[in-house]
Formats: sequence, C-alpha cells, structure tokens
Amino acid sequence: MVEVDKLGGVCLNRGCIPSKALIASAVQYKKFKEAESFGITAAGPVSYDWNAMTARKDKIVGNLVNGIGQLFKSHGVAHYLGYGKLIDANHVLVVDENGGETKLKAGNIILATGSRAMNIPAFPVDGHRILTTDHMLEVNNLPTSILIIGAGVIGCEWAFMLSMLDVEVQMVEMLERALPLEDAGISRLIERELKKAKIKLFAATKVEEIRPGQQGVSARLSNGKTIEVNQVLMAVGRAFNTEELGLAEAGVKTNKNGSIKTSADMRTNIKNVFAIGDVRGEIMLAYTAVHDGTIAVDNALGGKVRKDYLGVPSVIFTHPEVASVGLTEAQATEKYNIAVGKFPLRALGKAHAENEIAGEVKLIGNKKSDRLVGAHIVGAHATEIIHTAALAIRQSLTVAQLGSMIFGHPVISESIMEAAHDLHDSCVHLARKRK
Ligand code: NAD
Repeated sequence: MVEVDKLGGVCLNRGCIPSKALIASAVQYKKFKEAESFGITAAGPVSYDWNAMTARKDKIVGNLVNGIGQLFKSHGVAHYLGYGKLIDANHVLVVDENGGETKLKAGNIILATGSRAMNIPAFPVDGHRILTTDHMLEVNNLPTSILIIGAGVIGCEWAFMLSMLDVEVQMVEMLERALPLEDAGISRLIERELKKAKIKLFAATKVEEIRPGQQGVSARLSNGKTIEVNQVLMAVGRAFNTEELGLAEAGVKTNKNGSIKTSADMRTNIKNVFAIGDVRGEIMLAYTAVHDGTIAVDNALGGKVRKDYLGVPSVIFTHPEVASVGLTEAQATEKYNIAVGKFPLRALGKAHAENEIAGEVKLIGNKKSDRLVGAHIVGAHATEIIHTAALAIRQSLTVAQLGSMIFGHPVISESIMEAAHDLHDSCVHLARKRK
C-alpha cells in the first residue's frame, strides 16, 4: 500500500469525518441556544470556541488515522510512505519526501488515488480569500460572512454548518435549484430550510467576477447583483487525481474528463491494473469506493464479480439532513406508471419530542408491481433511516411489504411505514384525502 499523505485519504482527513465532527459541534451549539424550548435554563449566553471545535475534530481524525495504521499491522499490510507512480503494468515507483526511491513489483495493481476540489481558473484559490473546504477545515477563525459557489452536496453541508455557527452565508448555484441531482421535492424542502436559516441562495446564477472589496471580496453575479463578503468557498465539484500517475507509461486508458476507464469488474483496459472510487469518475462516494475495492480485490484474487450499485443511498449532512435512494420522481415517471406516498415529520410524535418537525418522507412505487423504486427524505436522522428503504430497494421489496413491517414507536423511521401506507391511500395518521 502506497500513500503519500496520512492514511485514510480525503474521507478521513479532509472530507466525511472532519466535516461531520464539526457539523456535530455546530448542531450541539444550535441545540444549546434552543435549550429553553426543552425546559432548560442556561446560566449565561451560549458561545462557542472554534479552535476547541477544530481540536476535537483533529483528535477524532488522528485517532482514526492511527487505527488504520494498527489495522495494517494486524492484517500484515506493508505501508510505503511516498508518491506512487506506475512504471509499467507490474511496477510502481515510490518517491518519498527526501527524493528516495523504492521500486515495487506487483502481479496486480489497484489505483485508488481519488479526487480533489475542482478549481475554476477565473477564481484562483489562494487559501486566504478564495478557499476550498481543505482550507476551511484548517482556518483559525471563521469569517463573519461567506459566499459559497455551488449548492451541491458540499456547498449545502457547509452552508448549514457555517450558518449554525452564526456566519452570514450566501450561495450561488448555476443550475435551477439547490442539490440539483436530488429529487425536485427534496430541493424544494431544503430551499425552504435554507430560507429559514437565513441563507440566501441565488439559483440559476453564475459568478461573473471576484475582486478585492471592502469586506474582503466583492463578487459580481450574472443577475446584476454585487455582494461583499469576507471569504469565498469553492464547492463546484471535484477533479480526478490521475495526472503524474504513470497511466500513459502503463498503457492505462482514461475517459475524456480525465477519470480512469474501468469496466464493472473494476479492471482498466490493462487486465491486472484495477481502479476504484472517485478516480473512476462514475460516482464520488467513499462508501461506493469501498464496494469497488472489494470487487477489485476479489477479481485480483481470481474471482469473477461485478459491481452492484442497486440501492446505494445518498446521505447529505445538512440540517435537517437529506437522504435518498433509487429513482427520483422524474426518473421513475419516465420508466414506470408510479404511485407516490408522503408523510410529513410534523405528524410524528417522536419528531415533536425532539423538536425536529421539519421535512418529510416520500416513497415512489411502481404501480404495477408495487416495487419500491425510490425513497427521498428530508428530516432529522434522514441519513440513518434511509437504510430501511435502501434495503427494500436492494432486495426488490414491495411497498406493501415495507408498510407491513412493525416499526418501533415512537421512532422517526415510522415515517417510512406511514409513507408506504399513504402510497396505498391507507394512512390513518394523515387526514383522509378527498377523492
Ligand atoms: P457537486 O457536484 O455535488 O456540487 C457542485 C455544484 O456546483 C453543482 O450543483 C453545480 O451545478 C455547481 N456549480 C459548478 N460550477 C459552478 C459555478 N461556476 N457557479 C455556480 N455553481 C456551480 O460537488 P461537490 O458538492 O463539490 O461534491 C463533490 C463530490 O463529493 C460529490 O460527488 C458529492 O456527492 C461528494 N460528497 C458527498 C458527501 C456525502 O455523501 N455526504 C459529502 C461531500 C461530498
């Protein structure tokens, strides 16, 4: 195993885990501010210490990174610290930070070099005024105002987190809606929550120019507005780490966008060279990368397996959370005659007990077969409860089967059962629909 940086990659060092640690701090701060509504009187005004929050984040990350090192030792994985480059289809050159070189020979090679924040050349990232989340994770002080370019997954997660930490947030998204890859209903609900959080979203808008301004930077938008903010956060997608990898030397083919061409067994065009995760360019998620990894290893060891992404959930750590699995309503309508069931969280006892009544569960079924084809959730614990629906889709269950399950009570997951009942017009916990 060759790694140039700390073990754990983007997910553990600069992505999923550190951002979730900070989001947990931000949510905790928000909850403290709402303590009175839970019957708690705090002694004084609630405040937070950003450096203490980032120190907590660093400790969590550090422990997990060390954990990987220990797992490597326990499983007998040899770890080479340095930059790896293919010499040919069976050899990798590892160059360490002092320029020392080690040549490794391997029967099979797996490329798992991932991705990095994409840069827009017109708005060069300087880590000072124009930042990526890599910089945001390390800043000593949060800005008082920020403009986030891109209202995709990263943009929305950071928008809610920074807003909970009292940063004034504005967002620009070039497509029509926030989280444009999600179901349109999810975008509508999350845009309502952005509004409630006083986060200003300019959708279907581009940034024309960014230049130094009175407050730090001044951004001119395609809608004619100019906004002044302390900093700009770029969240416009990710670029593949395929340069300087020796792909040409080994004869490995790439796609037009620079990602590595692979087939469903994770092999590149060179039979013994595999590629997994973001660098394949198909789906940029840590958990599908893990799935890719198991497929590549099985095949490298003589197996004959192919990737199977049926029922991969999307989990987005906004506040409230967003999660989905399967087809959006627009995609499902193109393929099937569909039925839709919905259940709002405000109709749920547990949601009231937790003071988290925003959001809803929406299920989409194939009317003919009754198979569940899509589930879309906005609300508290959405990223946890989605897995019930993901299991149903992966195992081709019907909506009736999902609805017949006996859920515990009171739990947020009950909303899935209720939405399944609503899809069959038999939800007793919603007012009767007029025919
Ligand atoms: P993204 O593709 O989700 O969002 C980027 C957004 O920026 C898009 O909506 C796009 O329309 C917009 N955009 C692009 N150029 C723009 C411009 N010039 N002006 C305005 N808007 C512009 O990418 P991301 O948010 O950077 O995330 C990268 C990847 O990481 C994604 O695949 C995402 O799924 C993954 N990720 C997942 C999680 C999670 O699972 N919770 C968290 C973070 C990131």
